[in-house]
Amino acid sequence: MTDAIRPLIAGNWKMNGLRASTAEFEAMLAGAGSVAAKADLLVCPPGTLIAAFADKARGAKNLAIGAQDCHPKASGAHTGDISAEMLADSGAGAVIVGHSERRADHGESDGLVRQKAEAAWRAGLTAIVCIGETQAQRDAGQTLDICRGQLTGSLPDKATSGNLVVAYEPVWAIGTGLTPTSGDVEQIHKFIRELLIARLNGEGAKIRILYGGSVKPSNARELMAIANVNGALIGGASLKAADFLAIAGSYA
Ligand code: PEP
Repeated sequence: MTDAIRPLIAGNWKMNGLRASTAEFEAMLAGAGSVAAKADLLVCPPGTLIAAFADKARGAKNLAIGAQDCHPKASGAHTGDISAEMLADSGAGAVIVGHSERRADHGESDGLVRQKAEAAWRAGLTAIVCIGETQAQRDAGQTLDICRGQLTGSLPDKATSGNLVVAYEPVWAIGTGLTPTSGDVEQIHKFIRELLIARLNGEGAKIRILYGGSVKPSNARELMAIANVNGALIGGASLKAADFLAIAGSYA
């Protein structure tokens, strides 16, 4: 059923990257063609680089530019924030919302994440909604309950495979070099798939569910082969063109 879903390999640069990083991005762009037949690529640089990268990526068939967060409102007195409309205007086609670092660093609730996803849609962007349990929640056996709660609370109605991507990112696996077992990933992605179908019927069967957390070239092939894993959200390894393209190459 989900075999026909085109994978998405998304890189989250977080608060990394200066204008000098354009050369690394250009290497990604140059290599994107080699995986174009099998996967879509998305690079989410810091907001300061979105417009420059989007200009360079214009016309690229399978590499798009995304953002890492947006404000729920379109404009107004919100010092330091950036709206989804501004991201779209800069050339972004997607925005990550509810990343665990924002949930932790900025106290973002499921309700706020949901508003941000709606803002993304208002501006014509795809929303990449992140969910995932902490180490303590995992140790307490709460992984599925946490994922269910976050998914239910963060997902707006009217989600479709065209406007939504879900990223399952166990917080304890982010930036640690740790990954869940393949069996755990399979179980949790199947659970997420079932929740999506229960809520969204046929569209729920087509929505991409990415795995994120210490994906690297050496483990990507195994992780990407798991049922209902429709790509990856990559932090650290997305900063180097060679690693990012090697992960995408798991599909080539
Ligand atoms: C992330 O922060 O989205 C992430 C998956 O990071 P890393 O790949 O570095 O674990």
